[in-house]
Amino acid sequence: MKKIIQDYTKEELGNIVKPSFRAKQIWNWVYHKYATSFEEMGNLPKALKAELDEGFTLTPLKMLTVQDSKDGSRKYLFGLHDGHTVEVVLLLMRDKEYHEDGSVKHQERYTVCISSQVGCKVGCAFCLTAKGGFMRDLTAGEIVSQLLMVKKHNNIEANRRLNIVYMGMGEPLDNLDAVVKAVKIFSDPDGMAIATHRQTISTSGLSSKIVKLGKMDLGINLAISLHAVDDKLREQLMPINKAYNIQSIIDAVKGFPINSRKRVMFEYLVIKDVNDSIDAAKKLLKLLDGIKAKVNLIYFNPYGGTEFKRPTDSDMKGFQEYLTKRGLHCTIRESKGLDISAACGQLREQEGGGES
Ligand code: SF4
Repeated sequence: MKKIIQDYTKEELGNIVKPSFRAKQIWNWVYHKYATSFEEMGNLPKALKAELDEGFTLTPLKMLTVQDSKDGSRKYLFGLHDGHTVEVVLLLMRDKEYHEDGSVKHQERYTVCISSQVGCKVGCAFCLTAKGGFMRDLTAGEIVSQLLMVKKHNNIEANRRLNIVYMGMGEPLDNLDAVVKAVKIFSDPDGMAIATHRQTISTSGLSSKIVKLGKMDLGINLAISLHAVDDKLREQLMPINKAYNIQSIIDAVKGFPINSRKRVMFEYLVIKDVNDSIDAAKKLLKLLDGIKAKVNLIYFNPYGGTEFKRPTDSDMKGFQEYLTKRGLHCTIRESKGLDISAACGQLREQEGGGES
């Protein structure tokens, strides 16, 4: 089987191709010009192109489906060489920037939500990816290629700033080595140059891995899927809580090096009559005391077969107001991609999986 060229850092590639400056040229073709064949790489000698073509692939993913949502998000299903599938969501946010001279600048920001595993071992009750079980880890190259494919498909310029969230299928900290390698490849100035502070690892809360990641001091952002404020409810929603309880997560986060301009994001999936009470908001406030935190309240997206319900707008606002009035940064996330079921794993289920 051919090796995936995106699996290699620039330095690793420089040890394979001689002379090593060729690695930078190849990177330019891959990450700036979105080349899909070695033949296109005009400034490489013919012999090297043939050698690369023999041993490597540039296209480890195949685009299977693209679904557009009315809110502008776009969801992709990609096929892997072994018949498995992963999904990626491109979100387009429109921001307004208010300047001192009174002018308002509109800007568009891309955020790409990528997958780190085929399936997931964590087994969250609200997640359709979990229902399909765990298949395998993705390699760094398979992770990197997701963004490359999306950029090429949307004609996004190579140097365009964008954000990456490791929030698609899988638990990124359960595939830590490949994810960390992908972070480094994404941030290489000769490649896509996506600064680590524009990358967010979202975890179900594997405390020991949060500590390990923190020690690497990559400058990356952290998002924690908290969803509940007491262990009993969290165990029900996220069985992983039996291994890593809420306090262990909070302790790990307190030791995590946070970029001075950033906050740790706590994701809180609000489920009607399950975790949307003011009592829960009070406990959340107490729990996050002393952490530079931001809470992201997410409307639960109901799907077929679940008994969980979407909260009302007024309960959601009441929950938010309680927190913000007491000084906690708290946003309500727009239900982007609701009409295409953009909660993780749902598209794949609709497509009938892809397991071979
Ligand atoms: S929500 Fe994320 S961590 Fe939980 S089972 Fe789904 S993919 Fe895994």
